[in-house]
Amino acid sequence: MAKPRGYCAGVDRAVQAVERALEQYGAPIYVRKQIVHNTHVVKTLEARGAVFVEETEEVPEEAIVVFSAHGVSPAVHREAAQRRLKTVDATCPLVTKVHNEAKRFASQDYDILLIGHEGHEEVEGTAGEAPEHIQLVDGLDSVGSVRVKDPDRLVWLSQTTLSVDETTETVARLKERFPNLIDPPSDDICYATQNRQVAVKEIAAEAELVIVVGSENSSNSKRLVEVALDHGADASYLVDNASFIRDEWLQGVTTVGVTSGASVPEELVAEVLARLAAHGFEDVEEVESVEESVRFALPHELRKDLRAEV
Ligand code: SF4
Repeated sequence: MAKPRGYCAGVDRAVQAVERALEQYGAPIYVRKQIVHNTHVVKTLEARGAVFVEETEEVPEEAIVVFSAHGVSPAVHREAAQRRLKTVDATCPLVTKVHNEAKRFASQDYDILLIGHEGHEEVEGTAGEAPEHIQLVDGLDSVGSVRVKDPDRLVWLSQTTLSVDETTETVARLKERFPNLIDPPSDDICYATQNRQVAVKEIAAEAELVIVVGSENSSNSKRLVEVALDHGADASYLVDNASFIRDEWLQGVTTVGVTSGASVPEELVAEVLARLAAHGFEDVEEVESVEESVRFALPHELRKDLRAEV
């Protein structure tokens, strides 16, 4: 078992924001996009009265809407204001940090190369801060097609949930083309993504099979599968829950590694362990590579209302 695994501070805060909003204002609470990329979390909140929508226009006027941990562009904030929605912004503060960097570099007329996955909500939100300055670099293959205004006024930023090793490679390739490309002021790949990758590397070296608990649309969970395969695991699979595990994966395997993405509740990991125990994998050892103590306060709009109640 890798440690750290599972919930990061940004996911914990976003899920709590919906839970506390339901308690404070009552159902329905609308949530734009999946609050975090995990099927189980979304279903659990739906059962409690959260209504997940794709776009702000689906939310009835003057209703309450929570923005997901992945962040939204200024256009979404404007639309919410036009519809007189009450908003609770659960954007992870570490995503907001990247938005602020984008705004600052754009205001200084830099071209910004945003390394990330096309179509991911976080990338859409960040790019929306300065669309005329930002272009997406989606992996090594897109480095060749980058076109810039001024190669001496160029910075790269990234999505928070990328593979650290792959991003280092992409940046190195970009710097071959643009030697004066400058780095972000601090790491954009967040502490939780980095720590989970460090932890999976340790167990992958010891395990023939690594099971990563996480949903298919979870970027950081998918990266854990790739990192496990690159660091010694013969096989690695992403499973939404224990029922996804196939018996044939376990044949001939003596050591299984288990970890989970940053949006995965621990109960799903416990179910995976129970399933593995039923197949004879009963001795569980936790390998802790980094200690985590990051916590974020609830979104301020919600804290204000909660305080007013006291
Ligand atoms: S994975 Fe990182 S950026 Fe995303 S919510 Fe968690 S802490 Fe924030």
